[in-house]
Amino acid sequence: MHELSLVQDLVRVGLAAAEGRTIRRLVLEVGELTCVAPDALRFAFAAIQAETPLLSEATLEIELQPGRGRCRACAAEAALSSPLDLCSCGGALEWIAGKELQLKLLEVAHV
Ligand SMILES: [Zn+2]
Repeated sequence: MHELSLVQDLVRVGLAAAEGRTIRRLVLEVGELTCVAPDALRFAFAAIQAETPLLSEATLEIELQPGRGRCRACAAEAALSSPLDLCSCGGALEWIAGKELQLKLLEVAHV
């Protein structure tokens, strides 16, 4: 599963940053154009959480970032809901937002 390996990578980054402390909260920034399903991320996180003691009390928050594009022809900016969307002038849109997939915030327990 695509989402499982994504979450594994993000958790690995989080665990490295936490340096052995218990993780309380993770906030993921997920662009709407990444084609990643938030439900699948949560499901994958729960599976990893079950076998990772430092994560057992952590909450996962997902912040969805809407897609935006800039027209290559007229430079107008437009909301992008699909990678195939075009500008109202018919020009191709260059993606400027909506492809984010990263660990935005990590909260660890103070020991
Ligand atoms: Zn245009």
